[in-house]
Parts: sequence; C-alpha cells; structure tokens
Amino acid sequence: MFDKILIANRGEIALRVVRACREMGIRSVAVHSTADADAMHVRMADEAVCIGPPPSSQSYLSFPAILSACEITGAQAIHPGYGFLSENAAFVQAVEDHGIVFIGPRAEHIRIMGDKITAKETARTLGIPVVPGSDGGVPTLAEARRIAGEIGYPVIIKATAGGGGRGMKVAHSPDEIETAFGTARSEAKAAFGNDEVYIEKYLQKPRHIEIQVFGDGKGGAVHLGERDCSLQRRHQKVLEEAPGPVIRPEERERIGRICAEAVAKINYAGAGTIEFLYEDGAFYFIEMNTRLQVEHPVTEAVFGVDLVREQIRVAAGLPLSFRQEDLRLNGHAIEVRINAEKLPGFSPSPGRITQYHAPGGLGVRMDSALYDGYRIPPYYDSLIAKLIVHGRDRDEALARLGRALSELIVDGVDTTVPLFHALLREPAIREGRYDIHWLERWLRENM
Ligand code: ADP
Repeated sequence: MFDKILIANRGEIALRVVRACREMGIRSVAVHSTADADAMHVRMADEAVCIGPPPSSQSYLSFPAILSACEITGAQAIHPGYGFLSENAAFVQAVEDHGIVFIGPRAEHIRIMGDKITAKETARTLGIPVVPGSDGGVPTLAEARRIAGEIGYPVIIKATAGGGGRGMKVAHSPDEIETAFGTARSEAKAAFGNDEVYIEKYLQKPRHIEIQVFGDGKGGAVHLGERDCSLQRRHQKVLEEAPGPVIRPEERERIGRICAEAVAKINYAGAGTIEFLYEDGAFYFIEMNTRLQVEHPVTEAVFGVDLVREQIRVAAGLPLSFRQEDLRLNGHAIEVRINAEKLPGFSPSPGRITQYHAPGGLGVRMDSALYDGYRIPPYYDSLIAKLIVHGRDRDEALARLGRALSELIVDGVDTTVPLFHALLREPAIREGRYDIHWLERWLRENM
C-alpha cells in the first residue's frame, strides 16, 4: 500500500480523499492555489504545497506544478478527484512517466471515453445499448437529412468534442434540420475548435440513469446499481438519488450486469460511471465518465462501501474488497448539491461565511469544506456542500432531507438551499415522477 498520496483537487472532494487516506493509515498531501491557502482541505491534510496563483490553469490544472509537488513531498500516487485533471489522458501519461501511480483508469480508457463517437462505438461493441443514430461524424447537410429521415424526427445534433451540454441542437422536423445542423457545427467550432457533429434520435421525456461500475484492472468488475440524476438545470445535476425511483430490480440486474461485463472485458481499473437516458423501459448509452462522480455518496450509502478506499486499493494492485454477490442494496439515499448561488438566477455568490452549522443525526452525511469565517473564493466551482441522507425507504429519506435542511445554517452568502425546501413540497418530487426536463419547466413556472 502507498505511504503517501497527493490530492490534485480542492474543496469537499479533496477533503473526502483526505478522510479515506487517514482511515487507511496513508499520509495525505494537499495542493492549493494562493487563493486556497486557508481552505479546509489544506488544514486537514498531513502536508500542503502551494502550487500557484488563483487561476486553475496555473495551479490545479498545471502538470509541472503538481508533478513537482509530488517529487518534493515523495508522494507515490495522485488522486485527481473529479473535474480538473481527472479525465485528462495526457496528465495520466505524464504522471506515469514520472513513476507515480495515477489513482484511476489507464490513459487509454480515458482517451476512448473522452471522444463521444469512439465512446459510443466502443459501448456498442461491448454490448451496451446506445441511442439510435449516425455511425460516427456527419460531414454534410445532405447526409444529415438522409440519416434524420432514416431514424425519424425529432433528432438531436451533437458535437463530437462536446461537453457541458454545448454544441447540441434539436430538429423536430425536416424544416429545422438545416438550421440545427449549421448552428450545432458553428457552436461546436467556437466552443471546441472542432466542428464535427453526429446525429441521434431525440428522446422526449427520458430520465438520466447512470450505472456505477468498478473494475479491478485485471478482468474483474462489479456494478453498484444506478443513480437517478434527472433533476438538472442546464445539464447540471441538482439532486441525485439511489436507487432510481422507477427502476425495477430485474432492470437493475440486467443493465448492471451488461455494464460490469463490458468494463471487465477491457480490463478497466477503478471507478467508472456509464450514463444512460432511460425511456419506456429502455436504456440508451450517452457517455461514460472515467472518474469518481460528485454524486458517488448516494451509492456508498445504499451499498455501505467506501468507493475512494476501493479506488486506492485497486490502484495499489489489491483486489476489490467485495464481490457482486456481497453487494446488497439497502434503503434509499438522496443527495442535494448546495451551491453558493443567488436564486432565482443562480448567479455565483462567493464571500465570507459568517455562521456555519452542519446538520447531523441518524442517516445524515454532510460533505463540505465550509467552516465559520471561511471566505469562498470567486475563482472556482460554486459547489460548497453536498448533503446526503439515507433512510430505510424513499419516504424516510425525503423526511430526513427536510429535517436535515432545516438544521443547516450557512450565513453570509446566498445558497441554493431554498430551492430544495421548495422542491420537497412538490408532489412530483415526493412521488418520484420527473424526467430530465421537469426541473427547467418547474423553474420557469415557479421562480
Ligand atoms: P455533455 O457531455 O455535453 O453533457 P451528453 O451527451 O452527456 O453531453 O448529454 C447531456 C444532456 O443532453 C443529457 O443529460 C440529456 O439531458 C441531453 N441529451 C443528450 N442526448 C440526448 C438525446 N439523444 N435525446 C434527448 N436528450 C439528450
């Protein structure tokens, strides 16, 4: 096992990794920008190294800064968290070239899944159901028309290099294909410097269901069921739950087995998430994330496992500490993402926390790097806390979420907490009846 791990991240996820390290008896090294000198992850880690000025490009995204911090401290492995360098194949290569272990999948798997067309082709080859659409890039309008006619309208045109929901356009009928194709291409060119696009059938009321997988890197893999992440604003997840309110045990078994077998076949190592749109009982692959997800704690809650500990073990060459048959789904968990944002516009609200009190009690987990007097810097993501509740069933989890939210105090900045109080009053949320468009519609009508 490693003696020392460097955490190439900040905020709650850096703290999450520090906690796993401490329980495993591994020393942790925090890295931070000058703006994060007084951050909680810096205080809690065993050592800390300042790696540059506030802009991420010169600190949390800087290969040389992070690799030097490893050399200076003698860290043998790097945990990338999520975001930043977690899905950067070139970084993984650089880390390995320096004789350091990257806690995550191999560069090759990150690269394959980072390109949407290759990812979809690979998924199809591995037996994962995909959304009907073009085989690869669509170069001309004539080709786009022909394919759209074949799969049937509505269709969605998506950038090969896409991410964050950009470069996507829907055409509801043949009249709209020319504009949609042109706009998607020019947006893709502007955002990603690559105007290649592909076409898919547009699903009209799907849910976002993702399967957590875990590979041992040696041909073994398990799945840990699904998370329903349909409540999204601008393609950003807002609330996640496990299990999915509409997924039947047989469906979970079936799609879970397909996903676990697929990643086992490619000797995938570590945590991964296979994302699907789910409509009328069918799963359609959209992408795979080759890292730990923000919403991983809901899976940890219902399966009683520590996914970060498992990532570290696999990176150290140890076997998985559970087999598929050891994994039993227990109860229901819900996570809400608390952002420092001002409603109703969701504009960033950085600043000083004048008072902070975290909720507690049975079935409550608060993953946050906040403390009294902390100043949230304006340079990074606005996620300041994840509140995760676990109950014996969904109703108990909902009641617990309401109770925990009422205990939480975050003064000094605006947060998205009022949104969750309001959502908990909605019958559609209480009954689990929502699709990927529900929240946007609700926000338009209620905020
Ligand atoms: P990105 O990488 O930009 O987030 P994704 O392929 O993951 O792109 O898609 C993001 C979101 O766009 C999905 O969660 C879904 O809301 C919507 N979307 C993508 N493909 C389709 C489709 N074929 N039909 C309907 N909605 C889609």
